[in-house]
Amino acid sequence: LSFQKAHFTISAPDIRHLPADSGMEVAFAGRSNAGKSSALNVLTRQNSLARTSKTPGRTQQINVFALDDERRLIDLPGYGFAKVPLEMKQKWQLALSEYLQERKCLRGLVVLMDIRHPMKDLDQELIHWAVESNLPVLAVLTKADKLKSGARKATLLKIKEAIPGFGGDVSVITFSSLNKSGLPELESVLQQWFQT
Ligand code: GDP
Repeated sequence: LSFQKAHFTISAPDIRHLPADSGMEVAFAGRSNAGKSSALNVLTRQNSLARTSKTPGRTQQINVFALDDERRLIDLPGYGFAKVPLEMKQKWQLALSEYLQERKCLRGLVVLMDIRHPMKDLDQELIHWAVESNLPVLAVLTKADKLKSGARKATLLKIKEAIPGFGGDVSVITFSSLNKSGLPELESVLQQWFQT
């Protein structure tokens, strides 16, 4: 499986417009500005596959990137923007929980979090939904280059200690789009999820 072959397939306004529920997919989620687009670009070795630094709070689409005929990466809209109206937030949360519960081809959820502000309420909620749906979760602590080694390790440890509280298959890595640390670990988890 080669992530470099990823290519944009479609943008969907909501989960009802996603491709047919067949094959396998892995979804990427995170608060706006968490570094999701940058991570997807590093993973796929493409500088502009996923668009970085979008206008905050703008209505976002779900982007679908195909790896091959069977496998897809799903780039879910960033969440957690203060300015988004409550009604839209609730709609999105409902849609997301539905997607996690009902999408049969979904093999796992990658939750990207800025290592300086990890495990906000919505991040935790999302992880809970995934666990309830028996989906494995990889928490990716992004922008690891922003912290010194000691602080980075301390945060990683803190998250590792919190993980059993979720009760499911949750793991965590640190990641940097700048120096590509964590990339082999990310790839290895995705390879596993996409295997069967
Ligand atoms: P998204 O909204 O989650 O897709 O986040 P982006 O990928 O657009 O990144 C948000 C901002 O964080 C941009 O200014 C990126 O350049 C920056 N950024 C993303 N990843 C990293 C990283 O690993 N290290 C550093 N230092 N900055 C990053």
